[in-house]
Amino acid sequence: MNARVKRLFQSFLLWELLKGLRLTGRHMFVRKVTVQYPEERAPKSPRFRGLHALRRYPNGEERCIACKLCEAVCPAAAITIESEERADGTRRTTRYDIDLFKCIYCGFCEEACPVDSIVETHIHEFHFENRNENVISKEELLAIGDKYEAEIAAARAADAPYR
Ligand code: SF4
Ligand code: SF4
Repeated sequence: MNARVKRLFQSFLLWELLKGLRLTGRHMFVRKVTVQYPEERAPKSPRFRGLHALRRYPNGEERCIACKLCEAVCPAAAITIESEERADGTRRTTRYDIDLFKCIYCGFCEEACPVDSIVETHIHEFHFENRNENVISKEELLAIGDKYEAEIAAARAADAPYR
């Protein structure tokens, strides 16, 4: 049978369709590996690097001492810090911005921070609706830290033995 006749028979018998159905049938009863996001979630590592947060101590005091190590280490130059000395002689930031469009979520800021102030949370679902919302301010970062402190602390405790 020459190739043209064979092709004619195959198209008449819907051969390609049958081949496709055979493949579908083969996978119909095997264990599914696709996660039906967002109804289903895959587990996340305690080291997951999502949206940033600034943390406080239990007494409510900001952890950040404005040492600017995070700003210096950031490879994307995404962090902008301004600071001043308080009346009690301590140094605190007056401005702490992160440009989330520049950020590459490398985690270097978190690693560099000597007081566990700037951290990356498990939050990866966020979006912006207006111009400049990509620049997240100190107040917003502190608010995220306040809201998710329990989860941040738990993730860091889980990761502590490996640091
Ligand atoms: S995660 Fe990396 S890129 Fe993003 S702000 Fe921190 S150091 Fe910069
Ligand atoms: S977040 Fe940490 S590393 Fe960055 S300025 Fe504050 S104390 Fe220093």
